[in-house]
Amino acid sequence: MFKTNYICTMPHSNIKKYKLLLVSPRQHYIGYTAHAELALMFGKKRLMIPLALPVIASITPDNYEIRIMDEESEPVPFDYKPDIVGITTLMATKDRAFELGDRFRSQGATVVMGGVSASMLPDEYLEHADAVVTGEAENIWEPCLRDFEQGCLRQKYEAESKYDYKNPKPARWDLVNMKTIFQVAIQITRGCPFNCDFCLVPKMFGRKMRFRDIDNVIEEIRHLPSKYVFFVDDNLTINKKYARDLMQKLKPLGVSWACMASIDVADDEALLQEMADAGCFNILIGFESLNPESLHEMHKDHNREGEKFAESIQKIHRAGIHINASFIVGFDNDTTAELDRIYDFSLKTAMPNVNLHLLAAPQGSELNARLRKEGRLFKLSESIGDGFFPTIHYMNMGQLELFDRYVVTVNRLFSYDTILKKAKALFSDGTFTRPGGSISFHRKMSLTLIILNEYLLTKDRDKRALFFFLMTLIKKKKIAVDKAFSFMLSMLSINRQLGKNMKNNEKYRILIRQNDVGPWKDKDVTSLS
Ligand code: SF4
Repeated sequence: MFKTNYICTMPHSNIKKYKLLLVSPRQHYIGYTAHAELALMFGKKRLMIPLALPVIASITPDNYEIRIMDEESEPVPFDYKPDIVGITTLMATKDRAFELGDRFRSQGATVVMGGVSASMLPDEYLEHADAVVTGEAENIWEPCLRDFEQGCLRQKYEAESKYDYKNPKPARWDLVNMKTIFQVAIQITRGCPFNCDFCLVPKMFGRKMRFRDIDNVIEEIRHLPSKYVFFVDDNLTINKKYARDLMQKLKPLGVSWACMASIDVADDEALLQEMADAGCFNILIGFESLNPESLHEMHKDHNREGEKFAESIQKIHRAGIHINASFIVGFDNDTTAELDRIYDFSLKTAMPNVNLHLLAAPQGSELNARLRKEGRLFKLSESIGDGFFPTIHYMNMGQLELFDRYVVTVNRLFSYDTILKKAKALFSDGTFTRPGGSISFHRKMSLTLIILNEYLLTKDRDKRALFFFLMTLIKKKKIAVDKAFSFMLSMLSINRQLGKNMKNNEKYRILIRQNDVGPWKDKDVTSLS
């Protein structure tokens, strides 16, 4: 491990200027949960960019001229000649990060990679980079840059201790092209006390929670270039007292925001109300599974109060807050019946936004280590969507069997017949009357045209019925206009993305079929060794 107090032997008295390009590589496959089509409707390229880019910029010394580039939003400027390139990585962008690393190195730039994927696989990344920063960058990025300046860059940089995180510098949103994105991200905590076996968060940030000073958070939000904010913390309300103090100070700022939290947020209805008052319009909740055995298998027993879920969901809806419900199918205790169970549950609890994923085992996770040992890892290609395609040999299901049922279920979840039923149950009692954030007159006009065009000039009777149902509620003041419109746009955007992705499905089905070994439990494992 590299020590943070390591000092290069070469002096650096005359500090010169360097050009630093910070890049987030594009993904080859865009899943429906990315809401990419929604961003396009708002005249943007992407909902938001990875927070790592403006955060790394904030901890970069002054003698660097920094350019931030999100490849999902804009093409990488290969004619720009940076001295050094920092590439942030995810499992889904690994291939592209390798390509970009090779390209910039061939152009003479020094390439440093970091982020979750590079942190888990530093040696693999070092084949395409000069150095890899593993884990949190705050305590190690500046020493890494100083070594680069002095020509003594090491291959691996890892901080000895976790960053204090109480008072980080504000992320450099001033360097981001805000014309291309809809909302900005902010993080206020680090770490997770749990240890779900498929998750890399505890590995990256540790199991001890660290919290920013609330005044430090508020100061950053006050200066953000957007009134639409996403808290990227895995559980914003894990410390209820902290969350309540935050809400008090957030409320006067007039931001509209979404976050992630665990379902126990509903145990405190007063807090839920304070969140809604402070601008919260959506909470992403990782239910993960409705199967208690699967929750136990993934070490997420803290989510096992399934019988309470429906009541908790109702409380969140009563506060006028939407839920993005996240589920995973593919655990050893799962069969394809889990997909029907999730569909039925989402219908019963009126949750239109369901992020349904197939189990993935990212490299570096405990799950990956176990499945690797068992010979059960399975990947069509590095670059296509973990979470949307089979990546393991399932215990009780064939890969193609699960994939086909998954595609059918996602399409059922977002059919207008289902959406209409959920909208009636969700909106009829008038709890979504609080208006959201403001948008320009010009944008309102263009969005209205999209809605009229799509929801009136359609052969889908349920889609048209949804429009008229929501118009009636608006007239009766039982739903805010922007809540009704954003709901229709959001459902439309998901359907557009699914339509695009469906076109490629046959190609992927052929690949899956070629590798399908059927349910692992039926396999003669001795024949594999
Ligand atoms: S899935 Fe959520 S609760 Fe589980 S370890 Fe990851 S961040 Fe923590």
